[in-house]
Amino acid sequence: MPQSSGKGGALTGKPLSIAIVGAGIGGLAAAATLRQVGHHVTVYEQARAFARVGAGIQQSPNAVKVLRGLGLEERLRERAFRPDSSLNRKHDSGEITWERMLGAEVEEKYGAPYFYMHRGDLHEALAAIVPEEIVRREKKLVGLAQHDEGVRLEFTDGSEASADLAIGADGVHSVVRETLWGAEAPRFTGRVAYRTTFPASLMGGATIDGSAKWWGPDRHIVMYYVTPQRDEIYFVTSTPEPDFQVESWSAKGDLDMLRDAYKDFHPQVSTVLAACRDVHKWALFERDPMPQWRKGRVTLLGDSCHPMTPYMAQGAATAIEDAAVIARCLAGVGHDGIESALQQYEEHRKPRTARIQQISRLNDLDKIKMETARVFIYDPWHEILS
Ligand SMILES: Cc1cc2nc3c(=O)[nH]c(=O)nc-3n(C[C@H](O)[C@H](O)[C@H](O)COP(=O)(O)OP(=O)(O)OC[C@H]3O[C@@H](n4cnc5c(N)ncnc54)[C@H](O)[C@@H]3O)c2cc1C
Repeated sequence: MPQSSGKGGALTGKPLSIAIVGAGIGGLAAAATLRQVGHHVTVYEQARAFARVGAGIQQSPNAVKVLRGLGLEERLRERAFRPDSSLNRKHDSGEITWERMLGAEVEEKYGAPYFYMHRGDLHEALAAIVPEEIVRREKKLVGLAQHDEGVRLEFTDGSEASADLAIGADGVHSVVRETLWGAEAPRFTGRVAYRTTFPASLMGGATIDGSAKWWGPDRHIVMYYVTPQRDEIYFVTSTPEPDFQVESWSAKGDLDMLRDAYKDFHPQVSTVLAACRDVHKWALFERDPMPQWRKGRVTLLGDSCHPMTPYMAQGAATAIEDAAVIARCLAGVGHDGIESALQQYEEHRKPRTARIQQISRLNDLDKIKMETARVFIYDPWHEILS
Protein backbone atom coordinates (compact mmCIF):
# COMPACT_ATOMS: atom_id res chain seq x y z
CA MET A 1 0.00 0.00 0.00
CA PRO A 2 1.17 3.52 -0.68
CA GLN A 3 2.79 5.40 2.15
CA SER A 4 1.73 9.01 1.87
CA SER A 5 3.74 11.90 3.14
CA GLY A 6 2.52 14.66 0.88
CA LYS A 7 3.11 18.09 2.27
CA GLY A 8 0.84 19.78 -0.22
CA GLY A 9 -2.14 20.74 1.91
CA ALA A 10 -4.41 19.98 4.79
CA LEU A 11 -6.59 16.89 4.75
CA THR A 12 -9.94 18.00 3.44
CA GLY A 13 -11.70 14.69 2.91
CA LYS A 14 -12.86 15.97 -0.48
CA PRO A 15 -11.33 14.04 -3.36
CA LEU A 16 -9.77 15.95 -6.24
CA SER A 17 -10.81 15.41 -9.85
CA ILE A 18 -7.73 14.48 -11.85
CA ALA A 19 -7.48 14.25 -15.63
CA ILE A 20 -4.75 12.00 -17.00
CA VAL A 21 -3.93 12.33 -20.69
CA GLY A 22 -2.73 9.00 -22.11
CA ALA A 23 -3.59 5.43 -21.13
CA GLY A 24 -0.14 3.96 -21.70
CA ILE A 25 1.72 2.16 -18.94
CA GLY A 26 2.44 5.43 -17.10
CA GLY A 27 -1.09 6.83 -17.39
CA LEU A 28 -2.78 3.63 -16.25
CA ALA A 29 -0.35 3.17 -13.38
CA ALA A 30 -1.05 6.73 -12.22
CA ALA A 31 -4.81 6.20 -12.54
CA ALA A 32 -4.48 3.16 -10.27
CA THR A 33 -2.27 4.80 -7.62
CA LEU A 34 -4.32 8.02 -7.51
CA ARG A 35 -7.55 6.05 -7.12
CA GLN A 36 -5.91 4.17 -4.28
CA VAL A 37 -5.47 7.42 -2.38
CA GLY A 38 -9.10 8.30 -2.99
CA HIS A 39 -9.10 10.82 -5.85
CA HIS A 40 -11.50 10.84 -8.82
CA VAL A 41 -9.57 10.07 -11.96
CA THR A 42 -10.52 10.21 -15.65
CA VAL A 43 -8.10 9.02 -18.31
CA TYR A 44 -8.30 10.45 -21.85
CA GLU A 45 -6.73 8.28 -24.54
CA GLN A 46 -6.52 9.02 -28.25
CA ALA A 47 -6.63 5.38 -29.37
CA ARG A 48 -9.83 3.43 -29.91
CA ALA A 49 -8.37 0.14 -28.69
CA PHE A 50 -5.07 -1.35 -27.62
CA ALA A 51 -3.46 -3.93 -29.87
CA ARG A 52 -1.21 -6.61 -28.40
CA VAL A 53 1.80 -5.86 -30.59
CA GLY A 54 4.94 -7.95 -30.49
CA ALA A 55 7.14 -6.47 -27.80
CA GLY A 56 8.66 -7.60 -24.55
CA ILE A 57 9.34 -5.48 -21.52
CA GLN A 58 11.63 -5.81 -18.52
CA GLN A 59 10.47 -4.69 -15.10
CA SER A 60 13.16 -4.32 -12.49
CA PRO A 61 12.56 -4.47 -8.70
CA ASN A 62 12.11 -0.68 -8.34
CA ALA A 63 9.02 -0.86 -10.59
CA VAL A 64 7.82 -4.24 -9.34
CA LYS A 65 7.55 -2.74 -5.83
CA VAL A 66 4.92 -0.35 -7.23
CA LEU A 67 3.14 -3.14 -9.08
CA ARG A 68 3.11 -5.10 -5.82
CA GLY A 69 1.46 -2.15 -4.05
CA LEU A 70 -1.21 -2.23 -6.77
CA GLY A 71 -1.89 -5.90 -6.08
CA LEU A 72 -0.42 -7.10 -9.38
CA GLU A 73 2.62 -9.07 -8.28
CA GLU A 74 1.03 -12.52 -8.21
CA ARG A 75 -0.67 -12.04 -11.59
CA LEU A 76 2.64 -10.99 -13.14
CA ARG A 77 4.62 -13.77 -11.46
CA GLU A 78 2.34 -16.21 -13.27
CA ARG A 79 2.85 -14.58 -16.66
CA ALA A 80 6.41 -13.29 -16.53
CA PHE A 81 9.71 -15.06 -17.11
CA ARG A 82 12.23 -14.88 -14.27
CA PRO A 83 15.65 -16.18 -15.36
CA ASP A 84 18.42 -16.77 -12.81
CA SER A 85 20.65 -14.28 -14.58
CA SER A 86 21.03 -12.05 -17.58
CA LEU A 87 24.12 -12.35 -19.76
CA ASN A 88 26.15 -9.73 -21.58
CA ARG A 89 28.04 -11.32 -24.44
CA LYS A 90 30.46 -10.32 -27.19
CA HIS A 91 28.57 -10.34 -30.45
CA ASP A 92 30.74 -12.83 -32.36
CA SER A 93 32.59 -15.07 -29.91
CA GLY A 94 29.75 -15.11 -27.40
CA GLU A 95 32.24 -14.50 -24.58
CA ILE A 96 30.40 -13.49 -21.42
CA THR A 97 31.55 -10.06 -20.25
CA TRP A 98 29.09 -9.70 -17.36
CA GLU A 99 26.49 -11.96 -15.84
CA ARG A 100 23.94 -9.98 -13.87
CA MET A 101 22.43 -12.23 -11.21
CA LEU A 102 18.65 -12.15 -11.13
CA GLY A 103 16.20 -14.78 -9.78
CA ALA A 104 16.15 -15.29 -6.01
CA GLU A 105 19.34 -13.28 -5.57
CA VAL A 106 17.93 -10.04 -6.98
CA GLU A 107 14.73 -10.51 -5.01
CA GLU A 108 16.60 -10.94 -1.76
CA LYS A 109 18.95 -8.06 -2.39
CA TYR A 110 16.47 -5.49 -3.70
CA GLY A 111 13.18 -6.62 -2.22
CA ALA A 112 11.29 -7.57 -5.37
CA PRO A 113 11.65 -9.85 -8.41
CA TYR A 114 12.84 -8.93 -11.91
CA PHE A 115 10.27 -9.71 -14.61
CA TYR A 116 10.65 -10.28 -18.35
CA MET A 117 7.25 -10.30 -19.99
CA HIS A 118 5.11 -9.44 -22.94
CA ARG A 119 4.42 -5.72 -22.97
CA GLY A 120 0.76 -6.53 -23.61
CA ASP A 121 0.61 -8.55 -20.36
CA LEU A 122 1.85 -5.58 -18.34
CA HIS A 123 -0.53 -3.16 -20.04
CA GLU A 124 -3.45 -5.58 -19.59
CA ALA A 125 -2.63 -6.08 -15.91
CA LEU A 126 -2.71 -2.32 -15.30
CA ALA A 127 -5.88 -1.92 -17.38
CA ALA A 128 -7.54 -4.64 -15.28
CA ILE A 129 -7.30 -2.51 -12.12
CA VAL A 130 -8.58 0.70 -13.73
CA PRO A 131 -12.36 0.68 -14.26
CA GLU A 132 -13.30 0.75 -17.96
CA GLU A 133 -15.72 3.62 -17.44
CA ILE A 134 -13.03 6.07 -16.34
CA VAL A 135 -10.95 5.50 -19.48
CA ARG A 136 -12.37 7.65 -22.29
CA ARG A 137 -11.10 6.38 -25.60
CA GLU A 138 -10.87 8.26 -28.91
CA LYS A 139 -10.20 11.43 -26.94
CA LYS A 140 -7.21 13.07 -28.52
CA LEU A 141 -6.15 16.14 -26.58
CA VAL A 142 -5.59 19.28 -28.66
CA GLY A 143 -5.74 22.05 -26.12
CA LEU A 144 -5.45 22.72 -22.44
CA ALA A 145 -6.19 25.89 -20.47
CA GLN A 146 -5.86 26.75 -16.81
CA HIS A 147 -8.14 29.02 -14.81
CA ASP A 148 -8.60 29.85 -11.12
CA GLU A 149 -10.61 26.74 -10.38
CA GLY A 150 -8.69 24.16 -12.39
CA VAL A 151 -7.97 22.92 -15.87
CA ARG A 152 -9.99 22.67 -19.09
CA LEU A 153 -9.11 20.07 -21.71
CA GLU A 154 -10.15 20.15 -25.38
CA PHE A 155 -10.26 17.20 -27.72
CA THR A 156 -10.22 16.80 -31.50
CA ASP A 157 -13.90 15.73 -31.54
CA GLY A 158 -14.85 19.18 -30.19
CA SER A 159 -15.66 17.93 -26.70
CA GLU A 160 -14.25 19.42 -23.51
CA ALA A 161 -13.61 18.24 -19.98
CA SER A 162 -12.52 19.89 -16.77
CA ALA A 163 -10.61 18.80 -13.71
CA ASP A 164 -8.87 20.19 -10.64
CA LEU A 165 -5.52 19.18 -12.11
CA ALA A 166 -4.13 17.42 -15.15
CA ILE A 167 -1.27 15.01 -15.74
CA GLY A 168 0.27 14.60 -19.18
CA ALA A 169 1.14 10.92 -19.57
CA ASP A 170 0.97 11.25 -23.33
CA GLY A 171 4.39 9.97 -24.30
CA VAL A 172 7.49 11.34 -25.98
CA HIS A 173 5.50 13.56 -28.41
CA SER A 174 3.39 14.93 -25.55
CA VAL A 175 0.80 17.55 -26.46
CA VAL A 176 0.51 18.49 -22.79
CA ARG A 177 4.24 19.17 -22.68
CA GLU A 178 3.93 21.30 -25.79
CA THR A 179 1.05 23.36 -24.37
CA LEU A 180 3.10 24.01 -21.22
CA TRP A 181 6.54 24.55 -22.66
CA GLY A 182 6.16 25.07 -26.40
CA ALA A 183 7.06 22.84 -29.30
CA GLU A 184 10.46 21.20 -29.25
CA ALA A 185 11.00 18.05 -31.23
CA PRO A 186 12.67 15.15 -29.43
CA ARG A 187 16.10 14.21 -30.75
CA PHE A 188 16.34 11.24 -33.10
CA THR A 189 19.24 9.10 -31.91
CA GLY A 190 20.04 7.90 -35.45
CA ARG A 191 19.19 4.39 -34.29
CA VAL A 192 16.22 2.11 -34.69
CA ALA A 193 14.83 -0.79 -32.72
CA TYR A 194 13.76 -3.85 -34.64
CA ARG A 195 11.58 -5.88 -32.33
CA THR A 196 9.15 -8.74 -32.32
CA THR A 197 7.84 -11.67 -30.30
CA PHE A 198 7.32 -15.08 -31.85
CA PRO A 199 6.61 -18.69 -30.77
CA ALA A 200 9.73 -20.55 -29.63
CA SER A 201 8.37 -23.54 -31.58
CA LEU A 202 9.61 -21.80 -34.75
CA MET A 203 13.20 -22.36 -33.56
CA GLY A 204 13.16 -26.03 -34.64
CA GLY A 205 14.22 -27.21 -31.18
CA ALA A 206 17.01 -24.64 -30.72
CA THR A 207 17.00 -22.66 -27.47
CA ILE A 208 18.44 -19.31 -26.37
CA ASP A 209 19.91 -17.94 -23.14
CA GLY A 210 17.12 -16.96 -20.74
CA SER A 211 18.15 -13.35 -21.30
CA ALA A 212 21.18 -11.96 -23.12
CA LYS A 213 22.45 -8.74 -24.63
CA TRP A 214 24.84 -9.30 -27.53
CA TRP A 215 27.20 -6.32 -27.86
CA GLY A 216 28.57 -5.53 -31.33
CA PRO A 217 30.92 -2.66 -32.14
CA ASP A 218 28.13 -0.20 -33.11
CA ARG A 219 24.92 -2.18 -32.54
CA HIS A 220 23.40 -4.67 -30.16
CA ILE A 221 20.56 -7.11 -29.82
CA VAL A 222 18.75 -8.16 -26.64
CA MET A 223 16.91 -11.49 -26.64
CA TYR A 224 14.81 -13.16 -23.94
CA TYR A 225 11.80 -15.35 -23.25
CA VAL A 226 8.63 -13.55 -22.21
CA THR A 227 6.76 -16.44 -20.56
CA PRO A 228 7.65 -18.82 -17.71
CA GLN A 229 7.08 -21.73 -20.14
CA ARG A 230 9.78 -20.32 -22.47
CA ASP A 231 7.38 -20.69 -25.36
CA GLU A 232 7.63 -17.13 -26.67
CA ILE A 233 10.82 -15.29 -27.66
CA TYR A 234 11.40 -11.55 -27.89
CA PHE A 235 14.25 -9.62 -29.38
CA VAL A 236 14.98 -5.93 -29.69
CA THR A 237 17.91 -4.27 -31.43
CA SER A 238 19.61 -0.92 -31.45
CA THR A 239 20.75 -0.54 -35.04
CA PRO A 240 22.27 2.53 -36.70
CA GLU A 241 19.89 3.77 -39.41
CA PRO A 242 20.11 7.56 -39.53
CA ASP A 243 17.47 7.93 -42.27
CA PHE A 244 14.52 6.22 -40.56
CA GLN A 245 12.51 8.31 -38.11
CA VAL A 246 9.13 6.60 -37.81
CA GLU A 247 7.73 5.68 -34.39
CA SER A 248 4.73 3.52 -35.06
CA TRP A 249 3.58 0.09 -34.01
CA SER A 250 2.44 -0.48 -37.59
CA ALA A 251 5.86 0.23 -39.15
CA LYS A 252 7.34 -3.05 -40.30
CA GLY A 253 11.03 -3.75 -40.77
CA ASP A 254 12.65 -5.59 -43.65
CA LEU A 255 13.78 -9.00 -42.38
CA ASP A 256 16.52 -9.38 -44.98
CA MET A 257 17.96 -6.02 -44.05
CA LEU A 258 17.85 -6.94 -40.36
CA ARG A 259 19.49 -10.33 -40.91
CA ASP A 260 22.16 -8.67 -42.98
CA ALA A 261 22.82 -6.06 -40.26
CA TYR A 262 23.51 -8.89 -37.78
CA LYS A 263 25.26 -11.33 -40.10
CA ASP A 264 28.51 -11.11 -38.12
CA PHE A 265 26.80 -12.03 -34.87
CA HIS A 266 26.95 -15.39 -33.07
CA PRO A 267 24.89 -18.36 -34.40
CA GLN A 268 22.46 -18.01 -31.45
CA VAL A 269 21.51 -14.59 -32.85
CA SER A 270 21.28 -15.74 -36.47
CA THR A 271 19.07 -18.67 -35.44
CA VAL A 272 16.61 -16.29 -33.79
CA LEU A 273 16.62 -13.87 -36.73
CA ALA A 274 16.15 -16.75 -39.17
CA ALA A 275 13.18 -18.10 -37.19
CA CYS A 276 11.11 -14.92 -36.80
CA ARG A 277 8.41 -14.25 -39.37
CA ASP A 278 8.08 -10.49 -39.20
CA VAL A 279 9.43 -7.56 -37.28
CA HIS A 280 8.41 -4.06 -36.18
CA LYS A 281 10.76 -1.16 -36.63
CA TRP A 282 10.75 1.80 -34.26
CA ALA A 283 12.93 4.93 -34.38
CA LEU A 284 14.58 5.73 -31.03
CA PHE A 285 14.12 9.29 -29.75
CA GLU A 286 15.28 11.00 -26.60
CA ARG A 287 15.32 14.40 -24.92
CA ASP A 288 17.60 16.12 -22.49
CA PRO A 289 16.31 16.26 -18.93
CA MET A 290 13.76 19.08 -18.59
CA PRO A 291 14.44 21.90 -16.11
CA GLN A 292 10.76 22.00 -15.09
CA TRP A 293 7.80 19.65 -15.48
CA ARG A 294 4.92 21.56 -13.88
CA LYS A 295 3.10 24.75 -14.71
CA GLY A 296 0.28 25.64 -12.33
CA ARG A 297 -1.95 22.62 -11.90
CA VAL A 298 -0.62 20.64 -14.81
CA THR A 299 2.35 18.32 -14.69
CA LEU A 300 3.93 15.52 -16.68
CA LEU A 301 4.72 11.85 -16.07
CA GLY A 302 6.68 9.12 -17.88
CA ASP A 303 7.99 9.61 -21.42
CA SER A 304 6.30 13.01 -21.70
CA CYS A 305 8.89 14.47 -19.30
CA HIS A 306 11.78 11.98 -19.20
CA PRO A 307 11.92 9.93 -22.41
CA MET A 308 15.06 7.81 -22.52
CA THR A 309 16.81 5.30 -24.68
CA PRO A 310 15.78 1.74 -23.76
CA TYR A 311 19.33 0.63 -22.92
CA MET A 312 18.73 0.37 -19.16
CA ALA A 313 15.14 -0.88 -19.59
CA GLN A 314 13.93 1.93 -17.32
CA GLY A 315 11.47 4.00 -19.41
CA ALA A 316 8.26 2.29 -18.30
CA ALA A 317 9.80 1.41 -14.94
CA THR A 318 10.41 5.08 -14.12
CA ALA A 319 6.92 6.03 -15.39
CA ILE A 320 5.55 3.48 -12.89
CA GLU A 321 7.75 4.96 -10.15
CA ASP A 322 6.34 8.43 -11.01
CA ALA A 323 2.83 7.04 -10.52
CA ALA A 324 3.56 5.92 -6.96
CA VAL A 325 5.28 9.15 -5.99
CA ILE A 326 2.66 11.51 -7.44
CA ALA A 327 -0.06 9.62 -5.54
CA ARG A 328 1.91 9.90 -2.31
CA CYS A 329 2.34 13.64 -2.85
CA LEU A 330 -1.35 14.16 -3.60
CA ALA A 331 -2.65 11.91 -0.83
CA GLY A 332 -4.99 13.83 1.44
CA VAL A 333 -4.43 17.05 -0.49
CA GLY A 334 -7.26 19.48 -1.19
CA HIS A 335 -7.55 22.30 -3.73
CA ASP A 336 -5.18 24.59 -1.90
CA GLY A 337 -2.38 22.09 -1.81
CA ILE A 338 -2.33 20.98 -5.45
CA GLU A 339 0.54 23.14 -6.67
CA SER A 340 2.86 22.42 -3.78
CA ALA A 341 2.09 18.69 -4.01
CA LEU A 342 2.93 18.67 -7.72
CA GLN A 343 6.09 20.62 -6.98
CA GLN A 344 7.08 18.09 -4.35
CA TYR A 345 6.54 15.26 -6.87
CA GLU A 346 8.68 17.00 -9.47
CA GLU A 347 11.49 17.87 -7.09
CA HIS A 348 11.71 14.32 -5.86
CA ARG A 349 11.52 12.65 -9.25
CA LYS A 350 13.60 14.93 -11.49
CA PRO A 351 17.11 14.15 -10.21
CA ARG A 352 16.60 10.39 -10.40
CA THR A 353 15.01 10.34 -13.85
CA ALA A 354 17.57 12.81 -15.25
CA ARG A 355 20.41 10.64 -14.03
CA ILE A 356 18.91 7.51 -15.58
CA GLN A 357 18.25 9.36 -18.86
CA GLN A 358 21.88 10.45 -19.01
CA ILE A 359 23.40 7.08 -18.16
CA SER A 360 21.04 5.15 -20.39
CA ARG A 361 21.99 7.31 -23.36
CA LEU A 362 25.64 6.20 -23.09
CA ASN A 363 24.84 2.48 -23.37
CA ASP A 364 28.08 1.79 -21.53
CA LEU A 365 28.24 -1.58 -19.79
CA ASP A 366 30.52 -0.41 -16.96
CA LYS A 367 28.31 2.57 -16.18
CA ILE A 368 25.14 0.48 -16.29
CA LYS A 369 26.80 -2.05 -13.95
CA MET A 370 27.73 0.66 -11.46
CA GLU A 371 24.22 2.08 -11.50
CA THR A 372 22.32 -1.16 -11.00
CA ALA A 373 22.12 -1.11 -7.20
CA ARG A 374 21.00 2.52 -7.07
CA VAL A 375 18.29 1.90 -9.65
CA PHE A 376 16.94 -1.35 -8.21
CA ILE A 377 17.01 -0.51 -4.48
CA TYR A 378 14.74 2.54 -4.89
CA ASP A 379 11.34 2.02 -3.33
CA PRO A 380 8.82 4.59 -4.65
CA TRP A 381 6.40 3.89 -1.79
CA HIS A 382 8.95 4.55 0.95
CA GLU A 383 11.56 7.01 -0.30
CA ILE A 384 11.71 10.14 1.85
CA LEU A 385 9.99 12.99 0.02
CA SER A 386 11.71 16.25 0.78
C1 LIG B 1 12.50 -0.54 -28.14
C2 LIG B 1 12.05 -0.17 -26.78
C3 LIG B 1 12.20 -1.06 -25.73
C4 LIG B 1 11.83 -0.70 -24.42
N1 LIG B 1 12.00 -1.61 -23.40
C5 LIG B 1 11.68 -1.24 -22.12
C6 LIG B 1 11.85 -2.15 -21.03
O1 LIG B 1 12.28 -3.30 -21.20
N2 LIG B 1 11.51 -1.73 -19.78
C7 LIG B 1 11.01 -0.46 -19.54
O2 LIG B 1 10.71 -0.14 -18.38
N3 LIG B 1 10.82 0.40 -20.56
C8 LIG B 1 11.13 0.05 -21.84
N4 LIG B 1 10.93 0.93 -22.87
C9 LIG B 1 10.39 2.29 -22.58
C10 LIG B 1 8.87 2.27 -22.46
O3 LIG B 1 8.29 1.66 -23.58
C11 LIG B 1 8.35 3.70 -22.32
O4 LIG B 1 9.17 4.43 -21.44
C12 LIG B 1 6.93 3.67 -21.77
O5 LIG B 1 6.08 3.02 -22.66
C13 LIG B 1 6.45 5.08 -21.50
O6 LIG B 1 5.13 5.02 -21.05
P1 LIG B 1 4.21 6.31 -21.08
O7 LIG B 1 2.90 5.85 -20.51
O8 LIG B 1 4.92 7.45 -20.46
O9 LIG B 1 4.08 6.69 -22.62
P2 LIG B 1 3.45 5.87 -23.83
O10 LIG B 1 3.65 4.42 -23.66
O11 LIG B 1 3.99 6.49 -25.06
O12 LIG B 1 1.89 6.15 -23.71
C14 LIG B 1 1.34 7.39 -24.08
C15 LIG B 1 -0.15 7.21 -24.32
O13 LIG B 1 -0.71 8.49 -24.56
C16 LIG B 1 -1.55 8.44 -25.68
N5 LIG B 1 -1.57 9.78 -26.28
C17 LIG B 1 -0.55 10.40 -26.93
N6 LIG B 1 -0.93 11.63 -27.32
C18 LIG B 1 -2.22 11.79 -26.90
C19 LIG B 1 -3.15 12.85 -27.00
N7 LIG B 1 -2.85 14.01 -27.64
N8 LIG B 1 -4.38 12.70 -26.46
C20 LIG B 1 -4.70 11.52 -25.83
N9 LIG B 1 -3.86 10.48 -25.71
C21 LIG B 1 -2.62 10.61 -26.24
C22 LIG B 1 -0.92 7.37 -26.57
O14 LIG B 1 -1.86 6.84 -27.49
C23 LIG B 1 -0.46 6.36 -25.54
O15 LIG B 1 -1.46 5.43 -25.21
C24 LIG B 1 11.28 0.58 -24.18
C25 LIG B 1 11.10 1.47 -25.24
C26 LIG B 1 11.47 1.11 -26.53
C27 LIG B 1 11.27 2.09 -27.64
